Amino acid sequence: MRRSAAFTIATLLLVPVLLLRAQGTPPPTPLTLISREGRRAVPTVMQSGQELIALDDVAALFQVMVAEDAPTGGVTVSYRGRTIVLSAEQSIASVNGRIVTLPGPMTRAGRRVMVPVEFLSRALAPIYDRRIDLRRASRLLIVGDMNVPRVVARIDAVGPPTRAIIEVTPPAPVTVASDTGRAIVRIDADALDLTLPAGSGLIEQIRAGDQPNTVTLVLAGGAGTPRTTTATNDGAARVTIDVPAVPAAGADTAAATPPALPPPTDTLPVGAPRPRFAVIAIDPGHGGADTGVKTSDGLEEKELTLDVARRVRQRLETRLGVRAILTRDEDKALTLDERAAFANNSKADLFLSLHANGALGPGITGAEVYFLSLDREGETVRRTATADAVSLPVLGGGRRLVEVVPWNLAQAAYIDKSATLAGMLEEELRRRVPMSPRAVQRAGMRVLTGANMPAALVEMAYLTNRDQAMKARGDEFRNAVADAVYEAVARFRTAAIEKPTP
Ligand SMILES: [Zn+2]
Repeated sequence: MRRSAAFTIATLLLVPVLLLRAQGTPPPTPLTLISREGRRAVPTVMQSGQELIALDDVAALFQVMVAEDAPTGGVTVSYRGRTIVLSAEQSIASVNGRIVTLPGPMTRAGRRVMVPVEFLSRALAPIYDRRIDLRRASRLLIVGDMNVPRVVARIDAVGPPTRAIIEVTPPAPVTVASDTGRAIVRIDADALDLTLPAGSGLIEQIRAGDQPNTVTLVLAGGAGTPRTTTATNDGAARVTIDVPAVPAAGADTAAATPPALPPPTDTLPVGAPRPRFAVIAIDPGHGGADTGVKTSDGLEEKELTLDVARRVRQRLETRLGVRAILTRDEDKALTLDERAAFANNSKADLFLSLHANGALGPGITGAEVYFLSLDREGETVRRTATADAVSLPVLGGGRRLVEVVPWNLAQAAYIDKSATLAGMLEEELRRRVPMSPRAVQRAGMRVLTGANMPAALVEMAYLTNRDQAMKARGDEFRNAVADAVYEAVARFRTAAIEKPTP
């Protein structure tokens, strides 16, 4: 491409600034394109609350031509003789001569031109010869004549029996099959536009299934065979799935018959009482496109946290007999709020978030335990409450970003207990793995603020330290961390049961 010297120099000067401004961060859940050809992730970035897509990605996905108009700074997108003209700094596009509005103007990130994702549905769709349907809430971009019903699930009764209701709009034939520990809902469709709640009661998790037209209900230990009824009315198919508890061994027949649930209603039921300190929520940090800290030789924080979380779960369930639930048991992205909400919805008695750290200085090393700060650092957080993250100084130099929310705190009521828990974690970790000089810290961490139970966050090592990164690959280190977490939970539980609070 030929450019004038003045234009090139101006571009070179602007590039660093624009790169910084336009880089953005990937969205928590990537956008997925669904078409007859299959599914693929669509690369987008979030910037100032807006989701942007690069026009060269649009060109590759939709076989359109993109031409820059250097003198005006505008861009022309063409497809089979039809054209879209974007002007610099204007939140509009001319689509075959007709003006449509966009939520923001096109921007540049280095040499790439970025546009709001709504460009696809508002500007490209009118000139494209296949349907383009952007469903941002469910992160789907549907291209062509695809049958993608909306599927909304909810937990209607915690039980037991635990009742899940799944509504399919427009209605489509549905079958439900169950095998060990799960129920699979299959809907006659090309793909599903899903809205799924966190698990609760005997349904540990409701998630997208392995096939694009299935939903999987992961059942808790102690769940019996689910019973299903289906009805179609008001333009929707409604599937009711009741998961009973397996009767205890030796129970008589009368007790073995699960109580009948009332007909489904839209009111929230009151959960049955259950033993104290029965559920521990473990939150493996990061997941999906969010890898967390990554070492030069390819170890990713998201993989380490999930593996250690599973080791902790195995210890808690086999040695302590409590239920340990993971906020994610696969490689998928979750927002920080979803993690806390999962623990709250599951009525967990304890919330532990697992992470590994990174720092600019390769010498910084050792495990750290965090619990929520309400005092001086809390003030910093409060002042910057509109930001998504605040930068806090790190011992040994540098700063790190800590995600925050405005100060509406479920966690506030549990700060003392969380401090006790953090202290126990620190003691047990110290017996097994290297510790940072500041082993227990308080910070305004968003994943902790919404947790409605004692909560702490463990940074098990600094992956930016060579020795720690190497050890973190091995079983020895992972088991040491899992043992430490297990011991701390066991101690905390004993103390909580022996000294119950009203
Ligand atoms: Zn992390």
